[in-house]
Amino acid sequence: MAAETKGSLSITSENIFPVIKKWLYSDHDIFIREVVSNACDAVTKLRKLALIGEYEEAADTQYRIDVIASAKDKTLTFIDNGIGMTKDEVNEYINQIAFSGASDFLAKYKDKATDDQIIGHFGLGFYSTFMVADKVTINTLSYQEGAEPVFWECDGGTEYTMSTGDRNVHGTEITLYLNEDSYEFANEYRVKEVLEKYCSFMPEEIYFTNADAAKEQDDEVIDADTAKADDTKDSEDVEDTETSDENTDEKEEPAEKPINDTKPLWTKHPNDCTEEEYKEFYRKVFLDFKEPLFWIHLNMDYPFNLKGILYFPKFNSEYDTLEGTIKLYNNQVFIADNIKEVIPEFLLLLKGVIDCPDLPLNVSRSALQNDGFVKKISDYITKKVADKLSGMFKTERETYESYWDDLSPFIKFGCLKDTKFNEKMKDYILYKNLDGKYLTLTEYLEAGKEKYENTVFYTDDEKIQSQYINMFKEQGIDAVVLTHNIDTPFITHQEQQNENVKFTRIDSDITNTFKEEVSEEELKETTEKLTDIFKKALNNDKLTVKVEKLKNASISSMITLPEETRRMQDMMKMYSMGGAMDPSLFGGDSQTLVLNANNQLVQYVLENPEGENTNMVCEQLYDLALLAHTQLEAEAMTKFIARSNEILILLTK
Ligand code: ADP
Repeated sequence: MAAETKGSLSITSENIFPVIKKWLYSDHDIFIREVVSNACDAVTKLRKLALIGEYEEAADTQYRIDVIASAKDKTLTFIDNGIGMTKDEVNEYINQIAFSGASDFLAKYKDKATDDQIIGHFGLGFYSTFMVADKVTINTLSYQEGAEPVFWECDGGTEYTMSTGDRNVHGTEITLYLNEDSYEFANEYRVKEVLEKYCSFMPEEIYFTNADAAKEQDDEVIDADTAKADDTKDSEDVEDTETSDENTDEKEEPAEKPINDTKPLWTKHPNDCTEEEYKEFYRKVFLDFKEPLFWIHLNMDYPFNLKGILYFPKFNSEYDTLEGTIKLYNNQVFIADNIKEVIPEFLLLLKGVIDCPDLPLNVSRSALQNDGFVKKISDYITKKVADKLSGMFKTERETYESYWDDLSPFIKFGCLKDTKFNEKMKDYILYKNLDGKYLTLTEYLEAGKEKYENTVFYTDDEKIQSQYINMFKEQGIDAVVLTHNIDTPFITHQEQQNENVKFTRIDSDITNTFKEEVSEEELKETTEKLTDIFKKALNNDKLTVKVEKLKNASISSMITLPEETRRMQDMMKMYSMGGAMDPSLFGGDSQTLVLNANNQLVQYVLENPEGENTNMVCEQLYDLALLAHTQLEAEAMTKFIARSNEILILLTK
């Protein structure tokens, strides 16, 4: 071995290692990404040099990166056959450059809070290995003619040694001697897991080897060879020997597969991708076996470079949490999931990959948030999504309608969260009506302009509100179905956006279309009488009773609650810490019991205030009205069932 060079790492490196450890603590595994992506770069560079004729590669050159773990030796080794480094380059890139990067890093971020995480690279890539290793060695040979191999070694202190190495193929071999806390990174499954997380789409082939298993296999082969030799000595059976020869051959050349896909779908031109490829990629990356509805392939070169695929999954199920994943890449190197500083929050409901080499990843997250360039990227993505959706509405309305139930929570959330998205999408919001047709707000209002002017009637529970729905249908009044959680804030948002439009739940009021025109005077006496009877029967002094002559005589009683009051209560319910609200409080003092003077039962009550069964009829009418809104509380429910049975017994007498 030639004379050793000893040196001190330039810049105040005694400050750096603790900082590296502290800063990267939460993402310890990131060192694998750093080292493997350096190896990829080294290979890509050599490939490019060969392409432009600066380097003549051997005919059988197979560029590759090997990651070799040995749990026994507690080492992790990374080998590439890329450009390698000369002694001068090791000096420049490892001994100096990385550390000047470190000093910049220190100067910028030393005083910042630890949770303000830095994403991506900061020129410290290689040195992140010292988070997990007590000692790191580099064995490298430059591709340049006549280059000498270099061996570098550093134990994480301020000193390193450099000497002549023994590598005889261009490229670099980096070995980490793991520290006590990091032995996990010599474990096959752990390393594979990290490789999968960060390196699945890196542009050069990466192979993993478990050195211990490989060694065992070698030992077995040696054993088999020895046994074979013994066998031939003892036996004349030549055929047997041949069979065992074949077995040995198989062991020597196991079918090897890289752990990564070097040409992920997003790097291809959209015209070259098939539907099956998009679906396959979706299944593989998101492990979602439900098919996505559709997707957008982003492919932009100017003014910035951005590629990616955004998938629209089905959102409709209330039970699925609305949570997607957007994976962010930088030149096929995984950076992180769901970086909300780059990707608008509502788009995080989608599933997708975005590769943007131009993102400034050497800054903190908060800096990213205020970066004008990042804002442009984020606006571009939003615009693409809105363009795709509005384009679909305009040219394939039927398809758009067929997706609407699945898409609507996403689109509505987008409109609530992002004014630009709302601006682009507001005319393409659909409302499903009582016949299951999809209408825009304008279409709904236009169709009903004589009957309900600027009111949008809606149901938020088709089962409970079925009585009202039937009434609406009978009178030919349309209503829309808004049953998702997001609809509550969305309705308010729509009212703010469309000044004259008012959303009214179908059980809020009895509209004029449902009742006969009678003067208040005519019903005054009846109202007073019925109020008295019901107050007494229900033992409720505060009850408000209103009598109407409804066109549909079969309806006996209803409870109405002004839209505003109900919304207020819904809101309180949403924010209340405890369980469900006591249903008997439904509406409280604002609830009105509407009785239909045209109904036979109501007439019976009116004519028989002291009748034997009058109380029972009153109680039953009230409960039935309440049931059309909400569930009864336990006690009321028990009474209701008992009373219903009693009524049935009366029928059989
Ligand atoms: P960065 O990758 O951000 O430049 P690093 O500390 O990871 O910072 O690496 C510093 C430099 O060392 C690289 O830019 C490269 O020139 C050199 N280097 C690191 N790893 C390799 C490798 N496997 N092969 C060749 N050069 C390498």
